[in-house]
Amino acid sequence: MKDKYLIKFADCIPVKGDNRSTICDLTRNTFDFIPNDMFDFLDTNNKLSLEKIMSKYNETDKVIVSEYLEFLEKKEYIFYGAKDEIECFPDIEIKFEKPYKLLTAIIEMSDDLSIIESAVNQIIPLGVKYIQLRSLTNIKIEVLDKILSLFLESSIERIEIFIPFSENQTKEQFETLIDKHLRISTINIFAAPFSEDILRWRSKLLFSEKEITSHSLFSCSRCKTFRINVEFFTEANFFNVYFNNKVSISKNGDIKNCLSFDKSFGNIKSDKISNIIKKANFTELWYATKDITAECKTCEFRFICFDSSDVFYNGSDYERAEKCNHKL
Ligand code: SF4
Repeated sequence: MKDKYLIKFADCIPVKGDNRSTICDLTRNTFDFIPNDMFDFLDTNNKLSLEKIMSKYNETDKVIVSEYLEFLEKKEYIFYGAKDEIECFPDIEIKFEKPYKLLTAIIEMSDDLSIIESAVNQIIPLGVKYIQLRSLTNIKIEVLDKILSLFLESSIERIEIFIPFSENQTKEQFETLIDKHLRISTINIFAAPFSEDILRWRSKLLFSEKEITSHSLFSCSRCKTFRINVEFFTEANFFNVYFNNKVSISKNGDIKNCLSFDKSFGNIKSDKISNIIKKANFTELWYATKDITAECKTCEFRFICFDSSDVFYNGSDYERAEKCNHKL
């Protein structure tokens, strides 16, 4: 090849942070740390000829540039092509559109099925696909079965459950529930006296010793904070991925952004979720991207970080209510 041109793979996207950068491989779902100098090098030299690139640097810097190129090629973040091939490799357009009004609903369970039934009847027409059912106190298997039956014949794709361990509930009972309700993706039993993962075809029954005493402590211990894929990355450019298209309904019927927050925007007994999610004060957090959140906006993880901290507006920026403990 006469003139070699440096071409960055479009699905490998560098993100600059304060002290270092990442390069996020959205197809292989991995990332690498790179120095900020390498970020700048990629930013300014993508799709230029090797000859032109090298002509910009002095002899000392050329050694570093050669090391950069060797690393980037070995990691398959770049390749070389001819000039007339460049237009065959356009950048990915960072755009995010979805056809539903709500994607995820978190419902706190109780023995009062009327609230849960009302919530389910309201969220299904809004296009919800993922449900999380959770409780800080024990829920009888028969009640759980009744709740899960509300989703039969619905368009819900996945249901995740969090409940505390009870001596009176056996693994076999949960396995029977999983076999009956095929939408269950995971049943997480917390505060158990042991840890065990039971895999059943496409579902999981996970026992964990983790104590959960408040809604702010709910998190899947096996879930990753960093999610590296095209959908997450593009959504994070426009939305706070944790809050976006999500509604939470407490056991009393309060409609919230998140069950651990005090603020309620209405109650399922008297308000319609479809009206509440149109209100700017409810959707405010949906738009609180990491890009406009202090501490996060210069973080190299800001487009792959699934962080659930509450954020509040301080007049110029959003601020996280808790200090970040995700950074590697
Ligand atoms: S929560 Fe932490 S890791 Fe995530 S984007 Fe913000 S500062 Fe970075």
